[in-house]
Amino acid sequence: MIKLKGIAVSGGVGIGKALLLSKDDISIPHRKILHSEISREIYRLEEALIETRREISDLQSKISKEIGFDHGRIFEAHFLVLEDRVLIEDVIKQIKNKLVNVEYAFSQSVKKYVGTLLKLNDEYLRERVVDIEDISRRVLRAMLKEKSVSLSELQDKVVVVAHDLAPSQTATLPKEKILGFVTDVGGRTSHTAIIARTLGIPAVVGAEIATRDIQSGDKIIVDGSSGHVIIKPTENIIKEYQKKSTLYTKEVKAIHIPKEIKACTKDGKQIVISANIELPQELSLVKHYGAEGIGLYRTEYIFLGRKDLPSEEEQYKAYAKVAKEVSPSKVIFRTIDIGGDKFLSQPEVPKEMSPFLGWRAIRFCLASPQVFKAQLRAILRASVDKNVRVMFPMISGIEELRQAKELLEDCKKELRNEGKKFDENISVGAMIEVPSAAITADVLAKESDFFSIGTNDLIQYSLAVDRGNEKVAYLYEPGHPAVLRLVKSVIEVAHANKIWVGMCGEMSGEPIFAFLLLGMGLDSFSMPPPQIPKIKELISNVKLADARKVVSGVLELYTSKEVEKYLQDELRKILKEDFYHILMI
Ligand code: PEP
Ligand code: MG
Repeated sequence: MIKLKGIAVSGGVGIGKALLLSKDDISIPHRKILHSEISREIYRLEEALIETRREISDLQSKISKEIGFDHGRIFEAHFLVLEDRVLIEDVIKQIKNKLVNVEYAFSQSVKKYVGTLLKLNDEYLRERVVDIEDISRRVLRAMLKEKSVSLSELQDKVVVVAHDLAPSQTATLPKEKILGFVTDVGGRTSHTAIIARTLGIPAVVGAEIATRDIQSGDKIIVDGSSGHVIIKPTENIIKEYQKKSTLYTKEVKAIHIPKEIKACTKDGKQIVISANIELPQELSLVKHYGAEGIGLYRTEYIFLGRKDLPSEEEQYKAYAKVAKEVSPSKVIFRTIDIGGDKFLSQPEVPKEMSPFLGWRAIRFCLASPQVFKAQLRAILRASVDKNVRVMFPMISGIEELRQAKELLEDCKKELRNEGKKFDENISVGAMIEVPSAAITADVLAKESDFFSIGTNDLIQYSLAVDRGNEKVAYLYEPGHPAVLRLVKSVIEVAHANKIWVGMCGEMSGEPIFAFLLLGMGLDSFSMPPPQIPKIKELISNVKLADARKVVSGVLELYTSKEVEKYLQDELRKILKEDFYHILMI
């Protein structure tokens, strides 16, 4: 039994067999074989090696022809690996002695091989690791051929283990087959964490060595509330965690605020609580968890995991369906936020040194007016029932907002000329997620109908902490005084300019901060649907006056830890016996 500790990002306990996904979506099956199948598995190894050799050789001649012979020689190391008798003998030995399938035996041998090279004090050999990993992926792909398991076609329930999940992988997840997620990298607001929370799947990210220590087929436990991952647990440990899982479910059920009831404080302040949505399959969760519409529709997910771009028509149909479904409640379509940790297959975006600071979101859209306009036209056309709003991500100054609005006006003009209907007075908002936007919120407010504070990014940019990097996750603090001052000032500026201000960052779904934000005067909270019942229950059990009082208390504190403790202590006093199930799950 091995125990790992990562970052707890989505509560609950998942117990089951692991499915290890490699970086490029290859999952390595682990099967026991019969004695009579040994020769077939060895034959499959030989076939895969021959096919890979042919593939590399084709690639080599193509590159030699196009760029020159010397460049073609970069594949020499690949051939050496393919012919390495030590490696091949080791694979065969494993198939024979351990009676396992060839994919599993091969991946184990490569792991050993790479481990040995990394230990050697030889720079050249250590650098060969990249070649070996590349060639092993090619061989595995050749072995698996069309048999490679795509997440969308999973047969059995599994705990998915990966270095990280690409948004294109999560976009096709069959929720009912996933018992949990474990990743090596990530933080509380990396995309895997967000998707897990939205779907209510237990998840631990940033477990660093998960893919090294877990094999496909291993029994594992993922505790998304504590951040523990247990590999090959004993029967007693399994029983212990089964109890924990039951307790968790009981606590979730203890929150019993009827869906239809709106969030209203004890002293009568009504608050809008809406849902954050990424995938069409999440639409049903909006009603299920009692959300008042959608406060953030991350439209970029429609663009992920495909070779082509969705047409205006395809987007229109998708957006119109969403608008109709939530009507008469509102939906806020956030225009494409591509870049950062979400990339399109088409057009191919060159790799950047710092993608979160690079060609992302509104920057990409303004530079790609055709793509942007097709989306804006689709959103406008979906707005006929007047329950659609549009907002722009990563606005860093007024000029970007003006340019985006100008393009929106162009689209309106075109649609008018074509006789196509839309909401002439559609509300246009700016996301406040870049410190420069927060600081110049007074300027942006003059030309925005609303603000939505994106704390997931605002925290990373104002504290200079990569939101997806587990090594610096301890510095990613929503309660940092700098973040709290920025948020408070944005809310005040919005109100001084008579516009409403919501928050769609994960912070608004965390009970202690929701209480604080209520006191700061936030008008609307948008969050992953499963968070909604407890935040509604929280708001229904407190007074606005009490929430206002804590704001001044919090602003006197110097550290995030002090802030969190203070808020917890205050809430414990107010919520009494409800404290545990609202705050601790
Ligand atoms: C945010 O940054 O807070 C946000 C809601 O957007 P995303 O998480 O998609 O960057
Ligand atoms: Mg953001």
